[in-house]
Amino acid sequence: MKIREMQDEIIRLKKEKDICILVHAYISHDVWEVADYVGDSYGLAKQAASAPQKNVLMCGVRFMAETCKILSPEKRVFLSHPDAGCPMAEQIDKAVIENYKKNNPDRTVVAYINTTADLKTVCDVCVTSSSALKIVENIENDKILFIPDSNLGGWIKEKCPNKDIELMQGGCPTHILLRKEHVERMKEKHPDALLLVHPESRKEVADLADYVGSTTGIMKFAKESDNKEFIIGTENSIVQHLQVECPDKRFYELSKECVCKNMKLTTLADVYNMVKYGESEEIFMDEETRVKALRSIDNMLKLGG
Ligand code: SF4
Repeated sequence: MKIREMQDEIIRLKKEKDICILVHAYISHDVWEVADYVGDSYGLAKQAASAPQKNVLMCGVRFMAETCKILSPEKRVFLSHPDAGCPMAEQIDKAVIENYKKNNPDRTVVAYINTTADLKTVCDVCVTSSSALKIVENIENDKILFIPDSNLGGWIKEKCPNKDIELMQGGCPTHILLRKEHVERMKEKHPDALLLVHPESRKEVADLADYVGSTTGIMKFAKESDNKEFIIGTENSIVQHLQVECPDKRFYELSKECVCKNMKLTTLADVYNMVKYGESEEIFMDEETRVKALRSIDNMLKLGG
């Protein structure tokens, strides 16, 4: 079977079986082409809640499928690959935050959406990279603990000097691989290119960027810019997606190393096997966890607009 034929069969079967396919921006382009919706965590979370289908296949990592289940308990939610977790989501234990809250009852705990459902149950509000700044600004309390990504948290702290933001050590093992040396090398090779960077990157990289924002923000910036060349400082799939969507522009990877192994576990064959044979892990969650975790996501949707 050719790739195009496999994609056509997936599109036919997902309609027949009432399956909504949600695809994160870091998944490969052949899977993008069969999606009902493509986006970053924030867009996917909102889309999961409004999709009319009874079944949702999340092509991404586990916390994203959990977020779908939290928002849509009546739907059957499936994860594209059972081993696709996000290491950052598991960096902080729920007990650590429970203990922190006992000692710091006056702080609002803001959690990046890249956290487990269990951890979300003890957090006050979730954020994504595209909504974090707006949400932190909109929180009435000035005293905040931001978890788990200290790079994203540090970037927000710099943008919100009026807030007292505490950070915990944590971060994305993929974006952390981007270094200042990569920027220097790529800027020398492509002096006319603009550098677009995700805020999960180190400060030494973000400080040299022409634009810092979420994957959706980076893609929008590149599409709307009059510039013709861009160095992309986020997961390398974005380079391929942008090159397909903007064939007249040039896109370069900031580093070959910026590849998320977990996102790369999902292939078109996994999607095919799910829609054809139902071979995929279904997400189950007890109602107490779901309701408690929902509070932080509801607050995100309220404060993020
Ligand atoms: S890119 Fe980083 S934050 Fe995103 S899923 Fe991979 S490890 Fe997690």
